Amino acid sequence: MIKLSQIRKSFGRNEVLKGIDLTVKRGEVVAILGPSGSGKTTLLRCINYLEKPSAGGITIGDFRFDYKNHGKKDVHALRQKSAMVFQQYNLFRHKTALENVMEGLVIVQKVPKEEARERGIELLEKVGLGGRLNAYPNELSGGQQQRVGIARALALNPEVILFDEPTSALDPELVGEVLAVIRHIAQEGITMIIVTHEMAFAQDVANHVVFMDGGVIVEEGDPKQLFRSPKEERTKQFLKRIT
Ligand code: ADP
Repeated sequence: MIKLSQIRKSFGRNEVLKGIDLTVKRGEVVAILGPSGSGKTTLLRCINYLEKPSAGGITIGDFRFDYKNHGKKDVHALRQKSAMVFQQYNLFRHKTALENVMEGLVIVQKVPKEEARERGIELLEKVGLGGRLNAYPNELSGGQQQRVGIARALALNPEVILFDEPTSALDPELVGEVLAVIRHIAQEGITMIIVTHEMAFAQDVANHVVFMDGGVIVEEGDPKQLFRSPKEERTKQFLKRIT
């Protein structure tokens, strides 16, 4: 359903993605693991075209996007199909929780305001924030802000949600509530690609695990298999260090 082919990205002379191929099935939750600096976040940002890959392409359903050769409309379409949840939430500070969720619907998708409002309320209820619709980001905890970020991503009704270390900016006691929301939406069959350091979570929620190092996919597979009996030496070393 989603197919990345030969994605490459360099920053100056530093090639940080060295030809990434990845297939993600509809409804699958893919966890991307790997040491710091291995290119995980860059890959996620490339998928969404927040970073411009030096080469490669993506297919989402019957939509094909060539990172080197495309029109503006294609970028718009790509961003509709792949919503991002950021490490630092990236909410509009001067908008309420509800307005943050409505924004993409009203401005980008041209949904009538009343309809966007209803959908926004529904989504905030889904992430457990039905009582905080009119709160501003600075009135919310980090965990609550990230749940608004997830509701905002869901509002676009994307084909895939990209999570960039969604809990890494949170105090430990707030991690659980965000993971619970992600787990809940995973059960609804939404396709997700998650860069995470939460190994227990990856093992529990992901259907497929990808281990990256040095800008390449070293190994990928079923979580049980990859965590219990990794094949590659680099994967073994990584798992030994963090568990
Ligand atoms: P990870 O998410 O696995 O920690 P990143 O994708 O953040 O890795 O980074 C991969 C490499 O790319 C690192 O060496 C990092 O320094 C470099 N890098 C990431 N973003 C930029 C940027 N905007 N400019 C220059 N180098 C970058």
